[in-house]
Order: sequence, then structure tokens, then C-alpha cells
Amino acid sequence: EFDVLIVGGGPAGAAAAVYAARKGVKTGVLTERFGGQVLDTLSIENFISVKETEGPKLVAHLEEHVKTYDVDIMNLQKANALARTDDGKLAVTLENGAKLTSKTVILSTGARWREMNVPGEAEYRNKGVAYCPHCDGPLYKGKRVAVIGGGNSGVEAAIDLAGIVSHVTLFEFDSKLRADAVLQNKLNSLPNVKVILNALTTEVTGDGTKVNGLVYRDRTTDETHTVELEGIFVQIGLLPNTDWLKGTVALSPRGEVEVDAHGKTSLDGVFAAGDCTTAPYKQIIIAMGEGSKAALAAFDHLIRH
Ligand code: FAD
Repeated sequence: EFDVLIVGGGPAGAAAAVYAARKGVKTGVLTERFGGQVLDTLSIENFISVKETEGPKLVAHLEEHVKTYDVDIMNLQKANALARTDDGKLAVTLENGAKLTSKTVILSTGARWREMNVPGEAEYRNKGVAYCPHCDGPLYKGKRVAVIGGGNSGVEAAIDLAGIVSHVTLFEFDSKLRADAVLQNKLNSLPNVKVILNALTTEVTGDGTKVNGLVYRDRTTDETHTVELEGIFVQIGLLPNTDWLKGTVALSPRGEVEVDAHGKTSLDGVFAAGDCTTAPYKQIIIAMGEGSKAALAAFDHLIRH
């Protein structure tokens, strides 16, 4: 039995593990893939105090740091249920049928970007296809980019990128943008942004090493067009890995675990941190801060019970 059982071993879970273990409580990390999304990241330039690093390198450092403490890392394991036991503990059931019990649980299962699922997207991921303007925007300084998606995140990304790149084309599938009016007004005031509505992206093109264009179909005319550009930011949704928690802890309409300022969820003794939660701005350094906070909150819970 654990004092603190962390489900999800990305940056949020790793930070939670270090903070919990440093309190001398019995700590475990259960994760499908230690390192999380960071494993899929090439260059990281906004992890403060480290000017530049690569995802797998940062994950190796995370693992080394966690392993200096007495933390039970259960890698390549997936949780599929969380429940309160009759004696008031928390039980996490694994996909393989095993059951772990703990006094507190920290949920840090992260999220994944929704993909367009068109030819070329996977091939050119990190070679022109990007999902995070805060992370990769500066790499496209002076270049031409597309933003896919006209919701709040797409329009925010287009406004953000317009200040860095030479030109932004925003593609929206629908006949109108869904973003808040104030964002749309701001977008329309920018000289280097073009909006294309009724556009279904059908292909990402490249020269074998990097993106050189995007093909879309105009849904009103059924004509196909190609736009030459160097980068494509896909902003059609971030999906939290929380399906297995439905009905157990309160989730937002987007499926994010609802947390308060201490990382507490709606279920006593259960905390959450990082991209799977309602905490805004999904970034490595933020996930680590939130993970640390959740571990301190879990420790506070332990000393009161
Ligand atoms: P994650 O990193 O998503 O980790 C969650 C972990 O939980 C995963 O290992 C997952 O497999 C596991 N898990 C999920 N469900 C279960 C389950 N049921 N049972 C057990 N384990 C489970 N951020 C930056 O700050 N700078 C960047 O430059 C940057 N670039 C990025 C580039 C790419 C391509 C991507 C995809 C993201 C990038 N990000 C960047 C965002 C950053 O990676 C995330 O904000 C951060 O990893 C979130 O950390 P997390 O611990 O909350 O979740």
C-alpha cells in the first residue's frame, strides 16, 4: 500500500514523485510511458534555466532525478479504474487486472493533441507540423505558417504567431470562426493574417525533410488548392487522458479533471496535476509546478488523516 500513488509519469508525475518522496512517504508512479509527451518533443527552448534541450534527454534527467529517491516506478502499466475501498482507502485497478491501494492518489495522465489525420501530418511532425505555438512559434520567425482551427486556441495561436512569423493563414472547416468576438476582432485587425473558411485540409506536403505546403478543399466549390508555407500549427483540440475517470472525479465539459488552487479534485484524497487538469496553459514547466503542488497537498492531506 502506498501513501502517495501517482498515475501518469510525464513531467507532472515526475515532479510529484520527487516532492512526495522527499517527505519520506511511500511513493509509487504508475505510468504507460515514463516521460509522457516530452518523449515526442525534439527541441525544448522554454524550460527555464536550460537554454536548449531535447525531449528524450530531459526525460533521462527526469528519470535519474526520480530514481535518486525511494520511488516505486511501475512503467508500461495502464490504470483503468479508480475507486474508494470499503476501508476508506483508494484503489487503482490496472488494465492487467492488478489492484494497487493508496492513502492518496495524484492523477497526472496528461493529454494528447487531436490530429488532422491527413497524409503527411505524421511524416512531417516536428519538421514543420507543430501543435504548440508557445513552444515552436519562434522557430518560424520570418516564415509563412498556417493555423488549423478557428476556435479560441486557433485564433489565439494565429494572433500570437502573427507577431513572430511573416504571414499566417488560418484555416477553418466551418463557415465561421468559433472564437470569442474579441479575439476575432483582434485577428481581423492584423495585416499579415488571412482567414480561409469552409476549408478542409486534405494533405501536408513536403520535400522529404520538411513541410513546404498544405492542400485544402474548399467545401463550397469542391475545388482543391495548395498553399506554400513552411509551418502548420494544428489547433483542433487537446484531449485529456481522462476517459477512465468518468463518473469518479468531476471533469470539465472538455474532460479535464477539475482542480482547485491546491490541486484537489472532487474526490477526497485525490489530487491532479498537469495537462489532464483544468489548470490553464499546458507546458512542461507548468506541469512540473502543478505536480509539485499536488504532492505537497497530498502530504498535507496525509498529516491530517
Ligand atoms: P504528459 O506529458 O502527457 O504525461 C502523461 C503520462 O501519463 C504519459 O506518459 C501517459 O502515457 C501516461 N498515462 C496516460 N493515461 C494513463 C493511464 N490510464 N494509466 C497510466 N498512465 C497513463 N511544452 C513545453 O513546455 N515546451 C515545449 O517545447 C513543448 N513542446 C511540445 C512538443 C510536442 C510535440 C508535444 C506533444 C508537447 C509539447 N509540449 C511542450 C507540451 C508538454 O509536453 C506538456 O505540457 C507536458 O508534457 C505535460 O505534462 P504531463 O505530465 O501533464 O502529461
